[in-house]
Amino acid sequence: MCVDDFEVAVAEILVELVGKQILVVGLGKSGLAAARLALQLGARVTVCDEKPLAETRFAAEVAELGVGYLPQAEAVGAAFDLVIQSPGVPLEAPVFAGAQVTGELEFAAPLLRGRTIGITGSNGKTTTTALIGHILQHAQVPAQVGGNIGTPPTAMVENSRVGQWNVLELSSFQLETIQSFQADIGLILNITPDHLDRHKTMERYVDAKARLIELQTRLNVAVLNAADPLSGELAKRTRARIVYFNATAPGPWAIAEKDGLITVDEQVLIPIEAISLRGRHNVENVMAAAAAAWLANVSLDDIAAAIRTFPGVEHRLEFVREVAGVRYYNDSKATNVDATEKALDAFDGGLWVILGGKDKQSDYRALAGRLRSKARGILLIGKAASIIRRQLEEVEPGLPLLDCGTLGEAIRVGHAEGQSGDTVLLAPACASFDQFQSYEHRGSVFKELVHNLK
Ligand code: ADP
Repeated sequence: MCVDDFEVAVAEILVELVGKQILVVGLGKSGLAAARLALQLGARVTVCDEKPLAETRFAAEVAELGVGYLPQAEAVGAAFDLVIQSPGVPLEAPVFAGAQVTGELEFAAPLLRGRTIGITGSNGKTTTTALIGHILQHAQVPAQVGGNIGTPPTAMVENSRVGQWNVLELSSFQLETIQSFQADIGLILNITPDHLDRHKTMERYVDAKARLIELQTRLNVAVLNAADPLSGELAKRTRARIVYFNATAPGPWAIAEKDGLITVDEQVLIPIEAISLRGRHNVENVMAAAAAAWLANVSLDDIAAAIRTFPGVEHRLEFVREVAGVRYYNDSKATNVDATEKALDAFDGGLWVILGGKDKQSDYRALAGRLRSKARGILLIGKAASIIRRQLEEVEPGLPLLDCGTLGEAIRVGHAEGQSGDTVLLAPACASFDQFQSYEHRGSVFKELVHNLK
């Protein structure tokens, strides 16, 4: 969108919203940021949440902003001119019945100045987004990084500038409601089953991810994973020019890996061995990030130099400590089976794998083969322990499954039984909410327990 169009679009929104009654559903970080933006645009704002106000994280901020609060109940939204959905609240929630609903990303999109790189996928979004931000920063290209990784899109509006990139990590929940958001560069890393408890079917999950490139025009670029079985189908759903990463042969408009080298558009970018992040999946993330940065006109030298200095992201295959020859890795962010598979693939063997947490109706049987060949012990924790045990025993009887209940007990067993050269790996394939507030909380507790080992 050119600057003049932008000003017109913003002016229309300002006129549209002044004095309008807006309800923001879901009082988390995104909801609060959306409420702030709506207030700035002159709307009269009410927020609602399924929790009583005092139990939400932002009761004080709500009071400070002076916005109204309503308990979340059926059809509450219908009385408002517009309802803004936080990504954490499913569209089927009864509160939306009869209402005109827009998502938080869609609300922010027309107001974001500058061009946009949108990153989605089942796994690797945060790592790739952070790496793109790191590369742009290294190359001194003006950019702000946000979305699912931290700052909600509505909170990025104020600091957005023409000539700057908005690098946005986008989840399926944010994408499912977009109507007009167009990423100049839209990147889909991979699509494997996740969040089926909310999206219900794989088809609907793929549809949500595909929105990112479906709304793009011929002037935009879609970056797709050449090795992902769904990429062919995705390619048919966009009008944007397509650039493939993870190709097996160098070629024009492709980022490839061959003979230990990553190539961009037929030129060598960097040897694989120069990437400090563990695991083949991180090679894919590096290729995807390189594609986006290259499309944003960063030189290959700058991209390569930034890749070499990227430290990785906390809770993603993060090395914690070595105790008595046993290495401890925190991959608390492995909240689905695919991420756990990738974590297992990043090690040769001698593993004590901590699995379990809150089940997301996943199929854990996919892990059995890798566990058979690499795990010395499978330390089960949390609510999903019995489901995981049943499924794994069904396909691989005799796996060394140990019921530990808690993370503390799992670490105790790993420490007591592990031998020099082994690895204790937290890669639980489940959400954390049965025993922890979040995966970050789970990862932090893991690290603290490991640091306390004698
Ligand atoms: P997301 O933001 O999509 O959840 P992260 O970068 O936070 O992605 O990584 C989430 C988990 O997925 C981590 O456990 C990580 O080791 C694993 N992972 C990272 N990149 C990939 C990838 N490209 N394919 C599969 N798993 C990955």
